Formats: sequence, C-alpha cells, structure tokens
Amino acid sequence: MPQNDCADTIPGRPISGSAGLDPQNWDSTRALGHRMLDDMIDWLSTARERPVWQQMPQALRAELRQPIPAGGEPIEAIYEDFRRLILPFSSANEHPRMMGWVNGGGSPAGFLAELLTGIFNVNCGGRDHAAIELERLVIAWAAEMVGMPKATTGVLLAGSSMANMVAVLVARRAALGVQVRSAGLQQARLTAYASEAAHGCIPRALDMAGIGSNALRQIPADANHRMRLDLLTEAIAADRADGATPFLVVGTAGTVDTGAIDDLPALADIAAAENIWFHVDGAFGATAALSKRFAPLLAGIERADSLAFDFHKWAQVPYDAGCVLVRDPALHIETFAQSLAYLTQELRGLAGNPPWPRDLGPDLSREFRALKVWMTLRAYGTEGIGRVVESGCDIARHLAARIASEPSLELLAPVVLNIVCFRVAAGAADLDALNRDIVADLQEAGIAAPSTTTINGRVAIRAALFNHRTVAADADALIDGVLLLAKRRNAFSREDRLE
Ligand SMILES: *Cc1c(COP(=O)(O)O)cnc(C)c1O
Repeated sequence: MPQNDCADTIPGRPISGSAGLDPQNWDSTRALGHRMLDDMIDWLSTARERPVWQQMPQALRAELRQPIPAGGEPIEAIYEDFRRLILPFSSANEHPRMMGWVNGGGSPAGFLAELLTGIFNVNCGGRDHAAIELERLVIAWAAEMVGMPKATTGVLLAGSSMANMVAVLVARRAALGVQVRSAGLQQARLTAYASEAAHGCIPRALDMAGIGSNALRQIPADANHRMRLDLLTEAIAADRADGATPFLVVGTAGTVDTGAIDDLPALADIAAAENIWFHVDGAFGATAALSKRFAPLLAGIERADSLAFDFHKWAQVPYDAGCVLVRDPALHIETFAQSLAYLTQELRGLAGNPPWPRDLGPDLSREFRALKVWMTLRAYGTEGIGRVVESGCDIARHLAARIASEPSLELLAPVVLNIVCFRVAAGAADLDALNRDIVADLQEAGIAAPSTTTINGRVAIRAALFNHRTVAADADALIDGVLLLAKRRNAFSREDRLE
C-alpha cells in the first residue's frame, strides 16, 4: 500500500473553470455591504436609547446551533440571522453606560478601518508590502507616546495578555541566553516579582513560558494599592540567598481593580541595581501618556525594558489590538526569529524586508491590526485620545464626589485614574452579597453595567470609565440606580422578615 503519497491515491478530474467564491455580478454584494454599513451606523448611533445589556434568550441560543451547512445560503439570509440572533445581545462595549471591567468603546475611524482590513486581507506575518511598513510606523508612534527610544522594536498582538507573555519570553532569553529556546530552563530557577494587584495574565504568562506561576512573588501592596518596595527588595534578597535567579520585575501602570500606578522610577532603580529585567504592564494606563494632566503619573514608564499595553481599551481601537514594546531590538529578535526553509527571507522580491513581525512574536499569520490603530490615531490625534482619557478621569472624580455625598455609600479605594470602587455600606447583614446582587440587578435591568471586585476583603461595585460616549449624567444614572435597587432589596428583605 502506498504511504505518504496522497497525490497518487486520489484520482484527478477534468478541470473546468475556477471554484471561485466571488459573484458573477457584484451588484448584490455591493448593495448588501452598503445596507450593513447603514444599519450598523444606525445601531451604534442609537445605543443610548437601548438597555445597556440584555441576555440572549435560551431559545435563540438553541436556534443559533445549526448544523454545518453543506450547501451555501444567500448572504442576505445570514445577515438577517446576525441582526436577529447576535446584534441585540452584544457585550455592551458600544454603550455609554458600559462601566464594567476594562473595555474600550471602539470608534468610527476604527470600524471603517476594520472594513478595509477585511477586504484587503493581507497577512502581516511578514514579507515586503506596505502593511508591514505601517506596523513599523505604529510601533514607532507607540514608543514615542511613552518616551521609549527610537530603536525600540515591537509588535501588535491580540492584547496585553499576549504582550505580557512576549515580554516574559524576552526577559527569559535575557536571563538565560538564547540556548533557553532549545534547551529549556534546565536547572535554572527563575523568579519574578509583581504587586499582588498585578493582572492575572502575569502568572499565566509565567505558566505558559514553562517557568511556572509559582515563580511569581506577589508582593503585598500599600494602602494606595502600589507594590511595597521594601518587601520587593526583601523578596529578591531572599530568593538570591535561596539560590534562585531573580529575572523579572513587573510594574503595573494602572492596576485592573483600582487603577493604581506602581512607583515606576523606584522599580526601575531596583531592577537596574539588581540587574533584573524591568517590564511594565500598562494595559490601559499607558494611554494616559496622551493626557498632559495625567502623563506625569506614568513617570518612569520610559525606563522599561519592555512595555505591554492595549490600543483596544482607552485608545478606543476596535478589538483586538494589543502591543508590546522592547527596548533592545537584538534581544527581541533573538527571542523569536527562526530560520526555516519554507519561510526564507530573501534580499529581493516579496520575501524581502526583514525583520518581520513573525520574528518579534509568536504568530506567523496575523491580521492587519496596524491599519485600525493608524486610522484611529490619525483621525482623533493624540489630543483627541488624551481628551477621552481626561473625560474618563473627570467623570470618575464626579462619581467619587457623589459617593461621598450619599450617606449609604462608601468609597473603597482612592481614585487615581478612571476607576471607582465603592459599595452600599448599609442595609444588609451580608454587604458582599448585597453589592453583588445590586450589580447583577443593574445589568439585568439594563440601567448600567459596572462589574465587581474585592478590595481589602470587601466586595466592591467597580465603575471603570473607558467608553468615550459616557457623560457625567451616566455616572449619575449609575448612582441613582444603585440607590434605588438597594432600597428595593431592603424593602424585600424587610417583607421577608415580616412573613
Ligand atoms: C486588560 C488588562 C490586561 C489583559 O489585557 P488583554 O488585552 O485583555 O489581554 C492585563 N493587565 C491589565 C492591567 C489589564 O487591565
């Protein structure tokens, strides 16, 4: 029996025409495309009139689960299913009263770029074409935004989770030499340091890099949720005494739960003195560099050996668009570049123009993320995005003032940037359960969509002002909603007691 020779086992057939998917006549595709754009702009521009979120009914979830179609269907019919089954049940990112987690609102320049990207369909793994040049420009802009050197290399990725992962791999290569890529960790016991308030993707990156999440020392934070420097230096010394190799200090510029910014200059000093890689997770906080008022809070970010941040959060680029920057181009390339016969870089032709994005990160085939970043930054300018940053921070301060003026509400963390953590502090024996219920009630009622977190052991209602459509009245609607729902829950629990 022939093996590994499938060309001979499947007989050929006479060839007639192409199996092409393009229509004979583009008119109906063109008309549908125009209609989709009109419908979606209507949908976006009327977001405020809708509930912030509605749950997808079970019946529609079941209806969505269709078998894979053997024959084709008209795109018009599929689009109708999108409008009926998918569009009403969004994640709420388009809505001005989306205040949960860390989610950007997208923007007109960004969504128009996505339209171009889909039709243009270039693969940004590498080769000699304009999209690669544009990504290099966007990386240079990013480095300039945060004050990193001109030679800084970088790559656009799905998000900061991947960007932090790439940074961990470059730091690993810096600590152990290029042979770590082939030989693995061998006997090395690497240890990394981040504040206890660092994002969960940091331990995950260590896990995925084969270093193990136990290698992360989660350094306690102070009352302002910033990493304790004394405990950091103690932990490094203890690990060295124990024979481990401290290799990475992660500063967070904008923690996910409260927006705290670590003392970056001090962390840079400690990392330099200890000869340890200094990485900054600035997932959303780095965007504050575009505001003259808030940029000083980020002092020291320009000293990072590597920086992870997202364009899809505060900078309002549509999902997804993360970015990693690395100060030392050689170390960056040596962490990812490979020489493979079928991917040979040439001196001329389409296979020229090194280094390629695939030499700077884990992906080979990649979408053209640079276009939506470029169009967004050009359309609104650094000043326009800076105004979005300042607006979010101003609304957060307005929210904090309202909380201070309501006797039943309590602020749970200082407001540094655009995140406000508070709770209803009266009216129930179990305040954690009450506040969790209120957040779910707010979401289900479609009033507003904050999220929850835990601050010093207490469940907090967490409002993060990332959406550029949000105004102060939306923050007021949140507070009014919280007070109303707390009162209602109170009334219910009093009835319970009477029964
Ligand atoms: C959002 C966030 C991340 C993760 O970024 P993704 O883009 O969601 O992968 C990491 N760190 C911080 C501080 C974040 O806010």
